Amino acid sequence: MMWDVIVIGSGIGGLTAGALLARDGRRVLVCESHGFPGGAAHAFSRRGFCFDSGPSFYCGLSGSPSLNPLKQVLDLLGESLATIPYDPLGHYHFPEATLPIYSNLERYRQTIAQVSPQGAQELAAFHQKLLGLYGGLQGIPAIALSSDWRLLPKLLVNYGPALLKLLPYLGLVNGSAGRIMDGTVADPWVRRLIDLECFLLSGLKAHGTIAPEVAFMLGGTGQGGGGISPGGSGAIAQTLVRGLERWGGQLRTQAHVEEILVRDRRAVGVRLTSGEVLQSQIVISNASIWDTYGQLLPPDALPPAQREQALATPAIASFMHLHLGIRAEGLEGLTGHHVVVHHAIAISPNRAILA
Ligand SMILES: Cc1cc2nc3c(=O)[nH]c(=O)nc-3n(C[C@H](O)[C@H](O)[C@H](O)COP(=O)(O)OP(=O)(O)OC[C@H]3O[C@@H](n4cnc5c(N)ncnc54)[C@H](O)[C@@H]3O)c2cc1C
Repeated sequence: MMWDVIVIGSGIGGLTAGALLARDGRRVLVCESHGFPGGAAHAFSRRGFCFDSGPSFYCGLSGSPSLNPLKQVLDLLGESLATIPYDPLGHYHFPEATLPIYSNLERYRQTIAQVSPQGAQELAAFHQKLLGLYGGLQGIPAIALSSDWRLLPKLLVNYGPALLKLLPYLGLVNGSAGRIMDGTVADPWVRRLIDLECFLLSGLKAHGTIAPEVAFMLGGTGQGGGGISPGGSGAIAQTLVRGLERWGGQLRTQAHVEEILVRDRRAVGVRLTSGEVLQSQIVISNASIWDTYGQLLPPDALPPAQREQALATPAIASFMHLHLGIRAEGLEGLTGHHVVVHHAIAISPNRAILA
């Protein structure tokens, strides 16, 4: 059988691409190495405890319209996800103080003022800039964006009024949160707090984190608070799989792709570890950039410069997860996230060294 599209990997990205293309009428097969879907966002059980493998902080998953791209995708697929709101989102434990992280920004800044009244005022100016950007972005759904030349005419025709609203913030769209911080916040403690929050969001400090990402987080939590699905990120993956299958797409687990087959510089299918060959008009890789360009594609499949450019992307040196199951009796009211900061020696783009 000739597939229209084969997607390598059933992470949130692969499932989203597969499900939307299935909705568009394409015959889609998603091949996943593991025995379950979700990639970094799967859930698993051990000895009666359920664990989320990765993500735990979501905002904008409930209510429509939402700026959350995942919510927009679920809406398009006709799928919905139950969510439980939580506020405070958790606590920061600094040597100086333990602070609840409230969704309501005014309330959050009041707690910051207990450590630094001046810093809290500066934080308000930082928030104001980012919320202005959020307001400007609100009228243009992420699902409408593409990275080709068609974007500009599409925006002009369909989103003219929203573009006008965004105009005063255009300078911030491609900039970093750090640039906004430099213009609004001098207090060293609050600057460290912003760096920490950016690191939690993107893995990079404020100068490495794009402003719209932080604006989206502030606007999303401020409006609807954080919300977690009762089944954790595993439920999100399952909902996307349901959306894929509802539109006729298929998921095959334990189907590790060993090679993308290429003819005349066009992908024509994939070969699985089992030796099975699957043919397709289009192959989309949800595997990492290093696996895709370094292992799945034959070295001569693409112009060398394109391959070198992709493989020049630095990989994170290491990342450790420790999953601990804790019995919930007597822990009613425990908040979702606890960020313990001792003394940050350095937070580099590749690693956080906390001592
Ligand atoms: C610890 C942690 C915490 C996080 N916290 C949050 C959070 O709070 N909020 C948030 O929004 N995001 C969070 N994230 C980020 C979020 O989880 C990821 O951005 C997202 O899940 C990545 O999805 P993806 O589809 O891009 O890739 P992946 O999830 O990496 O999916 C890739 C898939 O491809 C499969 N695959 C790879 N190679 C092959 C092959 N050759 N053949 C077949 N299958 C293959 C893999 O098995 C995997 O299933 C967190 C991530 C981590 C790790």
